[in-house]
Formats: sequence, C-alpha cells, structure tokens
Amino acid sequence: MAPYSKSETPVGTIQEENVKGNNNQKVISESELTDTNTEKPGTRWGSGNKNAKQLSTLYSKEKRAQETIGLILCVILMVLDLYYLIINFDSSRTLHVFIAALLGICSADFASGVVHWAADTWGSVDIPVLGPGLLRPFREHHIDPTSICRHDFVETNGDNFSILVPFLGYSVYKFATYPPEAIAETYNFEMYIFLLASFVSMTNEFHKWSHTYFGLPKWIEFLQNMHIILPRKHHRQHHVSPHEVNYCITTGWLNPPLEAINFWRIAENCITRVTGSIPRSDDMKWSKVD
Ligand SMILES: [Zn+2]
Ligand SMILES: [Zn+2]
Repeated sequence: MAPYSKSETPVGTIQEENVKGNNNQKVISESELTDTNTEKPGTRWGSGNKNAKQLSTLYSKEKRAQETIGLILCVILMVLDLYYLIINFDSSRTLHVFIAALLGICSADFASGVVHWAADTWGSVDIPVLGPGLLRPFREHHIDPTSICRHDFVETNGDNFSILVPFLGYSVYKFATYPPEAIAETYNFEMYIFLLASFVSMTNEFHKWSHTYFGLPKWIEFLQNMHIILPRKHHRQHHVSPHEVNYCITTGWLNPPLEAINFWRIAENCITRVTGSIPRSDDMKWSKVD
C-alpha cells in the first residue's frame, strides 16, 4: 500500500494493522505480509507515521510510575474483594447474583464506549494533563493501531486499574466493617461492582487482543469467537476512518443496539449545539500527513 499523499482523511479506509505473536516474538504486520512498508517516513498509518512517533514520546516516567502503583493497589484490592465475595456467597440467591454480574459486564462495556467516544471525539492533546495523559493514547491508536500491541501490560492497562482503586477500596472497606446483615443486603451490588471493575480493568487488554492476529492462546480466541470478549472482526469496523462506530471495546455487546438508535450521533449533535465544537476535529488533525 502506497502512503497517502492527500492531507485529508480518506473516509472508509481501514488502517494497516500490525499483528503479533507472544511478547517475546517479533511483531509481524499485515503490511509486511503484503509486502508493504509501515516504517516509511510520511506513511499514512503505522509506527512510521511522524505524528504517531511524536505522540508516543509523550509517555513519561511519571505516568509510568502512576500506572504501576495504581495497578498493584488495584490487584491487591481485587483479590481482597473476591475473597469477601466468596466467603459471603449465598447459593440461594444465585440467579440474583448472576443478573448483577451480567449487568456489571454490560455497564463496563457501556463505560468503555462512553470514554472511548468522548476521548476520540472531543478535546485536544494540547489540553494540560488530560491531553497527554488521557487523549494521547487514543490519537496514537488511530494513526498506529499496532502501537497497543507493542505496549506492555502496565502501559496498556495501568490507567484502567488506577481508576478502580477508590471503588474497590470502598467495597473492601464495607465487607471488612459492615455487620453480616448489612453485607447480605449489599451483596448483589458488590457483585455488580466487582464484575464491572474486573471488565473495566481488562478492557484495554481485550482491545489489545482484538488487534493481535498471531500467537493468541486458543482460549482467548475461543472467547473472541464466542463474542464473550471483543472479537477482532467486530472491532475492525471502528478502525475505518473517521472512526465513528463501535466505540464499546470491552465485549462489544452494546455496539449493535447503540448504533441502531444512532446513540453517538445524537449525543454529538447535542454537544455541538451547546458548545459549537466539531466532533473529531483534533483526531482529524493528528491523522493528517504532511
Ligand atoms: Zn477510537
Ligand atoms: Zn482498536
């Protein structure tokens, strides 16, 4: 595929998407397989893109430290929360617990859609703190979808784990201090929070797996094929410029109903009417090639 010479976004184009094996394997891209070159300067998509390189340099040591601390704290709290959920489980309420768990997963999927849509559509990388911290990875991902496959577990998942620390901390606090009757009353809600937190924490990993085409363990491919987690083909539709469909990236379950009711376009029209902001203007700016 020759690099695009136009500066405008080619609508309806699927970006070159790298595919890789396990962590210790060489990254192999679809473009390599099809005898093209993602490293060529000025290339439209991929790691050779000038803007993608600039965005990747904004990942700082301080950010890395915050992600590492958040991830460790979150895992400790998750283990404690799971322990309390197991010892307080009441088999007579299995159906309620199952429904609460399912709602937790759907809520995680919806939350992933809202955050992804908001970050893709509004704001700018130039905004202090929020720009480099939150929006940068979203811009980078559209220009260089393979970059997520080169990120390790901390860089991929650190933010999501960090966000969950106060919520899981509160759940553990309640289990540790509430009397048994109060725990029984709040148990379904805590199960909902635990599943919500578990799927939120793994959202970016599921997303990363949806960009990984070789070397995935069979059980992960099985979960993708069963659409229990985000399937590869399903997420590929989001990577068609201008990146305006299928924002939910945890399981992708809510994408069909949200697209059917035109949910994101309605939300965008409301925000544009109030603020005058143009959806995806910053994303389009980063996608341009000089
Ligand atoms: Zn996106
Ligand atoms: Zn993606």
